[in-house]
Amino acid sequence: MITLKFRLLCSKTRVTPTRKQTIPRLELSGALILARLVHSVSLSLPVLHGTYLWTDSMTVLYWICNRKGWKQYVQHRVEEIRKLTNPSVWNHCPGTQNPTDLPSQGLSAKELLKSRLWWDGPSFIARAVINTPELGDDCNEEAEVELLRNPATFTQVLTSQDQTKECPVACMSNLMNSSHYSDIGKLLRVTAYVLRFINRLRGTVDRTDCGSSLNGKEITDAEALWIRTIQKLSFDCEFCYLLKPLGPCPPLIDQFGLFLDDKQVLRCRGRINLSQLPLSGKQPALLPSNHPIVALLILKAHESVKHNGVNQTLTFMRERFWVLKGRQTTRKVVRSCVTCRRLGHSYGSVLPPDLPTERVLEDPPFSHTGVDFAGPLYINVVNEGQSNEGQSNEGQSNEGQSNEGQSDER
Ligand SMILES: [Zn+2]
Repeated sequence: MITLKFRLLCSKTRVTPTRKQTIPRLELSGALILARLVHSVSLSLPVLHGTYLWTDSMTVLYWICNRKGWKQYVQHRVEEIRKLTNPSVWNHCPGTQNPTDLPSQGLSAKELLKSRLWWDGPSFIARAVINTPELGDDCNEEAEVELLRNPATFTQVLTSQDQTKECPVACMSNLMNSSHYSDIGKLLRVTAYVLRFINRLRGTVDRTDCGSSLNGKEITDAEALWIRTIQKLSFDCEFCYLLKPLGPCPPLIDQFGLFLDDKQVLRCRGRINLSQLPLSGKQPALLPSNHPIVALLILKAHESVKHNGVNQTLTFMRERFWVLKGRQTTRKVVRSCVTCRRLGHSYGSVLPPDLPTERVLEDPPFSHTGVDFAGPLYINVVNEGQSNEGQSNEGQSNEGQSNEGQSDER
């Protein structure tokens, strides 16, 4: 005859999360707490000869004992439970005999003191009966709700080189979902690997030429491909018109002087073509304001200017791209920057320096005069043969746009 004694060693409880969850999910969270508690106790009491765990939820038992693919919430918790405990030690306890339900049923402390269920556990334990239910692959409706549906399989046909000549914009968005990425660098690296794979299939690159790491050209090609994809999605009319000028001209073409470069990228024609800036600066690629990749590009620019403000980020972006509603879009991205939010603010403006001496001294009028003229150019106003006091004896120029008005006034 086996004599069993019961002792309440330790317990753990947790308040239900404020985020609403289904009852089976909450039961699963309870099972996870039990698994963690048992694990920590077993580390402290290594002489344990056997462990038996009970839950009153058949759904939770089903999740733990069936190796199906569950939805993320369930899968993560089930995996941890399986890691900490052996699924075979889990058993079912009828809800009416579950002592852990007593406090939540509003039992007073006095009643709890007298409760045999609380102190001695369910009666079947005293009879050394382990109630292990049969859990086959039979359908459990509540559990099956969390079953991960198989993602739809699809076949993507890659366009051949001949086709890309006719339709040069390969729609990358059909192959990859850019909204799944939060870092433009990672997106471009993954894209570059995809392109490398495609090129290998096409036989356009020698397998021995491809090292394990990516080179700069592959990253640049990946970026150009995404730029073309974004432009094709957002400026389809402009693309069609530039390829075949039929019908009325889209307003953006006139507004920005759009044209297609040799890589079929839509670029803006500015007035600084004779400057020594790189091509991307003189003729920036046009981008829409509402594409996730544009936000990633702006965020990258924002990081490149060391989390400086909207103006600096926008200026950096315009060295290569012209974003529609650029300031508004940049402000939105900068405001959502995690680093800036964590630090409380972005870099503030630089404190202005002290005013020059001649601007803060009390002097007769026109002792110092200023010429609002292009750039920091200093000139001396020579007053030969004039010794009148009060004549201007120093001229100073400053940057400004109103030199004509100033001249008239003088
Ligand atoms: Zn920032």
